Amino acid sequence: MEVEGPIDHLDRFVHELSARPPALARIENVTSFEQPARGERTFVIRDSAVDSLMCIAISPDAATCDDCVAELFDPANRRYLYPFINCTNCGPRLTIVTGAPYDRARTTMSSFPMCAACHNEYQNPSDRRFHAQPVACAACGPRLSARDLRGEPLDIHDPVAWFAQRLRSGAIGALKGLGGYHLACDARNESAVGELRRRKHRDEKPFAVMLADVQAARRWCEPSAEEIKLLTSPSRPIVMLRRRNPDDLLGVAPGNPYLGIMLPYTPLHHLLMRAMNGVPLVMTSGNRSDEPISYTEPQVFERLAGIADCFLTHNRPIHTRCDDSVIRVTGSIERPIRRSRGYAPQPLPLPFECPVPILAVGGQLKATFALGQRRRAILSHHMGDLDHFEAYRSFESDVARYADLFAIIPRAIVHDLHPNYASTRYAMARAAREGLRAIAVQHHHAHMASCMAEHGLDEPVIGVSFDGTGFGTDGNIWGGEFLVGDFAGFTRAAHFRYVPMPGGDAAIREPWRMAVSHLADAGAECSSLFRRIDPPGLRTIRQVIHRRINSPLTSSVGRLFDAVAAIAGVRDRVSFEGQAAMELEWVAKEGSEEIYPYHIERLAPPLKIDTRPLICRVAKDADGGLPPATISRRFHSTLASIAARVCRAIREESGLEKVVLSGGVFMNARLCALISGKLEALGFSTFQHRIVPPNDGGLSLGQLAIAARMLSATRSPGEDSCVSASPAR
Ligand code: ZN
Ligand code: ZN
Ligand code: FE
Repeated sequence: MEVEGPIDHLDRFVHELSARPPALARIENVTSFEQPARGERTFVIRDSAVDSLMCIAISPDAATCDDCVAELFDPANRRYLYPFINCTNCGPRLTIVTGAPYDRARTTMSSFPMCAACHNEYQNPSDRRFHAQPVACAACGPRLSARDLRGEPLDIHDPVAWFAQRLRSGAIGALKGLGGYHLACDARNESAVGELRRRKHRDEKPFAVMLADVQAARRWCEPSAEEIKLLTSPSRPIVMLRRRNPDDLLGVAPGNPYLGIMLPYTPLHHLLMRAMNGVPLVMTSGNRSDEPISYTEPQVFERLAGIADCFLTHNRPIHTRCDDSVIRVTGSIERPIRRSRGYAPQPLPLPFECPVPILAVGGQLKATFALGQRRRAILSHHMGDLDHFEAYRSFESDVARYADLFAIIPRAIVHDLHPNYASTRYAMARAAREGLRAIAVQHHHAHMASCMAEHGLDEPVIGVSFDGTGFGTDGNIWGGEFLVGDFAGFTRAAHFRYVPMPGGDAAIREPWRMAVSHLADAGAECSSLFRRIDPPGLRTIRQVIHRRINSPLTSSVGRLFDAVAAIAGVRDRVSFEGQAAMELEWVAKEGSEEIYPYHIERLAPPLKIDTRPLICRVAKDADGGLPPATISRRFHSTLASIAARVCRAIREESGLEKVVLSGGVFMNARLCALISGKLEALGFSTFQHRIVPPNDGGLSLGQLAIAARMLSATRSPGEDSCVSASPAR
C-alpha cells in the first residue's frame, strides 16, 4: 500500500497494522520504504495485479463469525435466516476459489451478480462486508434445495425444517457443507447410526458429532479451556473430547473414551442445529468407506444413492474438496491428527529457501502433498488413502489444481522411497514425462524433517521415529528408528529388532499375527492368546513365519503395539489401522513406573533394541491374568525407558541434545508425555508436532524441506532462484 502523511502518523499506521490486524489477517512481515509523496487525498483499492515474482496466498475457509450469527437470527436484519451470510471475517475461501488473486470473479460466486444492497456494502470501506468476495443475500445469492433420495428437487417451502424433521425421524441425510457433503443422522438414534455404518461399510471407525454450541459440548463431554478455544476458533476443527458418560452416544464411537466433536461452521449448520433443537448429529464425510468426500452435483446423487435418504443441497459450487480437520489436545499441546479444512492451504514457513519450486507428493495413507516456493510450503488438504482409485484420481487432479491456483510450476518432485506407493509412481512417471528431477526420501527421515521444519531446527538432531510402516534403505520395513542427522542426510543410530510381518499388510489388519510373530521370535508361548485363534489358522501363520512366505521384516513400533495389544487380550483384529494401538493406550491406568525387561545390543552400529525379554514377560503376565490396564502401563513406560537409554547413548557419541518425536505412533498422547518427560529430565530438549500431524499426513512437509536443502547444495551458481510461472488465468 501507499500511504501519505506526517512521519509520526505513518509510524503509527505501520505499528497499528502489525499490532491490531483484522480478524483473519496473518502478518508474515512488514517492509516499508519511502518514496516521493504524490499529494493523493482519497482511499482507493486498485484491482489486484499479479506479477511473476508474487507469492499467491489463498486463505483457509473460516467459520461463520459471531456478528454474522447474530444477524442470521435477527428478524430485523435483511439476511435473517439466510443460509449463506458471510463477511470479511468469515466464510468460504479455499473451497470456492477458482483462480488467483482472490477476487469474486475468480470464485464460484462469479455466477451470482450482487444486488444493489450487497454491492453498496461491498464498496463501503467502513462496512464489515467491504471487499468480502462471497457476499450475498436472499435477493442475489445462492439458494437451498431439498431433494429426495434420487436427487430429484422437491417443492418444499422450508428445506431446513424439512431436513431436520427427516433426521429426527431416523433418516440418513446428505448435507452440502463447505468442502463437500456430510452424511448426517441423529447421533442418539442407535438404529440410524447402525444403518449408516452398514450403508457406508464402516464397522467401528468413530464418527464425528456436530453439537449446537459450547453448552452442548459440556453436556456430552468434558472440554478443557484450551479445547473450547479450539472448538470455537475460526478453523472449527473436530476436537477429540473426553466423554462424560462412556455409554452416551455409544454407536458413534464404540469403546472409545473420546468423541470427535465439532460446532457449526456454516450458517446452514447453525440453522440446522437450531432446527434439531438439541439433538446431536453424526456428521461424517459423504462417501462410501474411505473414498474421497463427494462435492459436486449431480455425481453426488449417484455416489450417495443407497446411503442417503434425502439431500439438503444448494447451488453455490464447491471448487476444491476439503475434509474436516481433527485435533487432539493434551495439556496445552494441540496435536493435529488431520490438517485440512480451516488450516489448508495456509502456508508454513520453511527454515530456508527452496532454490526452485518443488512438489512433494507425500506417502500413501492419510496423503497430503506440498508445494514449495521460496521460503514457504503450501500443504494440501487431506487426500485420504491412495489405495483407493478414486482417492488417487482426486490426488492427481488436486495436485494440478493447487499448482494452477498458486501458479507454481514444480522443477523437482520429491517422493517416498517406497516403490509401490501410488504417489511414488505418480512422481516417477511425471518426472520422466516432464524431464523433472525426482528425489526419493526415506520415510522416517521425512517424518523427522517434518517435525524439524515445523520448529525451524536447521541443525543436526536426534530423530525418534516410532511409526506404523515405512520403506527402509535396506529394503526392510522400518518403524522403530533412532536417526541422527539433519535435512541433508541421516544415519540410523538405533532400531528395534526385526521380526517377520506374516502376510505383509494382512498383519496390519490382524494384530494377532504380529503377536504370533513376536512370540515365535522370543521363543515364548501365550496360551490365553492361542486359545482364541483357530488351530489351523495358527498353524498356517507359524509356517508362514518359519518359511518367511510373504513376510517382510519389520522394526515397527506400531506393529509392536499391535502384538502387545493382542497378547494382552485387548484386540486381535482391527477394522482400521492403529485401532489396537489406540485401545491399548486407552486401557492404561496410572500406577507404578515398573517396566518390562529389554536388551540393547551394542556389538556394531546401529544399536539394536531387543524386545524379546519384554514379549516373554507380557505373555507371562497375560497368562497369569494380569489386567490389560497394568500390562499397557508397563509397556508404555518401557518404551519411554528405551527412548531415554538410546538417546543417552547417542548423546555420549554425538553430543546432540535436541530430540524430535515423529511418526504415527506419536498420536499416542500418553507415550508422548512419558518420553518427552523422561528426556527433558535428562537434559534433552524435545520437539513434538503442533502444526502438521505426526502421522503420514505430515510427510510431504519433511520431504519438501529435505529436497530444498539437497537442491540448494547442488545448485549451480547464477541459476534463477525464484522461478514462478504467471498464473494460468
Ligand atoms: Zn462474518
Ligand atoms: Zn444481495
Ligand atoms: Fe509413517
